[in-house]
Amino acid sequence: MRRPSLNKLTPNRQTFGYAAILAAALAVAIVSGWTALATQIDDAAYDWMFRLHPPPRAATQSVILAIDDASLTAMGGVREYRKMLATALELLATAHPRAVVIDLILTDQTDEAEDGRLEGAMLATKNLVLATDLANGQWQDPLPRFLKHAAGVGHDKADELSPDGTTRQIALEERTPAKRYWALALEAFRLVRGQRIVESPEDLQIGNELIPAPRTSQGNRLLRVLFTEDPIPEVSLNDLAQNPKLADALAGKIVFLGVTSMTAVRDRVKTPWGERPGVEVHAQLFETLELGQFLTSASDLAVLALCLLIGAIAGLIFGFLSGWPAYLSAAALLISAHLAPYVFFQHGIVFPYFAPFASAWLTCATAASYQHFVVRRQLRQSETDRQRYQQAIHFVTHEMRTPLTAIQGSSELMGRYNLNEDKRKQLADMINQESKRLARMIQTFLDIERLSDGQMELRREPFSVRQIVEACLQRAGPLAERKHIHIAIGDLEGAVEGDRELMEYAVFNLLTNSVKYSEPDTRVTVACRVQGDRLRLSVQDQGIGMDSKELRQIFQRFYRTKRAEESGEAGTGIGLSIVDQIVRHHGGKIEVTSAPGQGSCFTVVLPACSRASQAPTVSV
Ligand code: ADP
Repeated sequence: MRRPSLNKLTPNRQTFGYAAILAAALAVAIVSGWTALATQIDDAAYDWMFRLHPPPRAATQSVILAIDDASLTAMGGVREYRKMLATALELLATAHPRAVVIDLILTDQTDEAEDGRLEGAMLATKNLVLATDLANGQWQDPLPRFLKHAAGVGHDKADELSPDGTTRQIALEERTPAKRYWALALEAFRLVRGQRIVESPEDLQIGNELIPAPRTSQGNRLLRVLFTEDPIPEVSLNDLAQNPKLADALAGKIVFLGVTSMTAVRDRVKTPWGERPGVEVHAQLFETLELGQFLTSASDLAVLALCLLIGAIAGLIFGFLSGWPAYLSAAALLISAHLAPYVFFQHGIVFPYFAPFASAWLTCATAASYQHFVVRRQLRQSETDRQRYQQAIHFVTHEMRTPLTAIQGSSELMGRYNLNEDKRKQLADMINQESKRLARMIQTFLDIERLSDGQMELRREPFSVRQIVEACLQRAGPLAERKHIHIAIGDLEGAVEGDRELMEYAVFNLLTNSVKYSEPDTRVTVACRVQGDRLRLSVQDQGIGMDSKELRQIFQRFYRTKRAEESGEAGTGIGLSIVDQIVRHHGGKIEVTSAPGQGSCFTVVLPACSRASQAPTVSV
């Protein structure tokens, strides 16, 4: 008998079922990793890890020259940007910064005198980077008079990438079908390094610096900005105008010139550290490039591999362990799945947070429930089977004891007493009959076992249905008589080719079952009809019957219905499973119709044979 084991999985259907259900749970976890909720959780976890493990501090190379509220008030408000820019560049000229990045769009023509002054100031500025903006698919480039003095032009896009509007990464490259621009900070970086940008699909190289920014399907290259908790140092343009000596602090720096005023423009960008002025984000990207350490996103394949690994470990834990060891190991797995993204983060690799933890929770919960409900149920079932099996063994040994006792008693009588010839003959006949019955019983059990193992070839002889039915009636007659049950014989047509003894065993079983599970003074009807190339041998009774749930199980070994148990009739629950095997081995099947309290009809459907020998009939 097969016993399912909690602790040891063998490669059987149960293992495949377990693996399939885990795979389904894992698939749900992985697919849910693409939902909006998962992205939100991934982003929140990223910000949290970012603050927990901030980027290393380095001396900042950049400074923000801020057009702040004070500058706007003192220098004439938003209409006077060109004047302010010209003033700023003129003040910077003495400080000789390494580069100046202007984070303002200079597309429109304004006052000629002011534009001329700004142009003059630009001419005197080394490594000047101007900004362009992509609006409605069109680049808003600076006026040609400014453009000609710029050493580089870069796009100013910073905050449109994540669903929650927080800037975590910036596109190093932005393109329209006609034109492509690098990011403002990248242009400045290239100029400061004095090198060209060498690009490959996977990264960008500037001198010795390799920037891992693979080109995405949208054609841009995203780079995570290592925002520092402390803002980039800032100098107010108004302060510089009041005190030109402040320009000394800007010497040799990369100056990002932009508006930080909250009242004039709401140019604020959300970062993992909170809101920062838009211009600072470009300076932070520049510092990230300068630092030369990058956070890269794990590939889809790596994420999938991590989720699969987690799922496999959960499966193994509940496949090989049970009880506390299983739950403790699962808890360890859950903790590891929660910590894994942070450990990777510390090594510069960004894993999504949701997919691994969803994989761990879902697979652990599924594996634990599976083991709890399915395996335990099978264990209980096998325990019941075992008990029934023991009962059956008791029954069989008991059955064998009856002929044995008769043989033993008769032989003892013969040995001990001086019996007359008639008595001796009677006892010898009894011994002979009972030992034959015993031998038949043993033979039938052995045949059935060998049949189910596929070791035995069926005998193939033609015989008529009438022959076997009448033989069975003779044997079942006394039992029926005792219960006052009338066995009626209908038409008995047809013949079968096969093993006569086994077929007789099958019909006898159906007949005795009908008698056993019927009330006294009822009727059992046996009939056989040929329909085309099949014959239908039916045994119908008016007995206790079965419901549809019981009907589905009666061919299982050792199964007995509650009604049968309560009837007081002895039984093992193996008879029908043997009948079923015998009929199948003859190329047939059994059909059963039944209803509780209304009787049952067992019909054996077999291939009909035309060559049967017609044996003499036996009357009951
Ligand atoms: P048993 O030794 O218990 O009779 P079987 O394998 O022959 O074992 O039958 C299995 C079960 O199917 C029986 O215990 C009984 O519950 C049910 N069964 C079989 N035949 C009948 C019938 N004619 N009427 C009602 N129940 C039946």
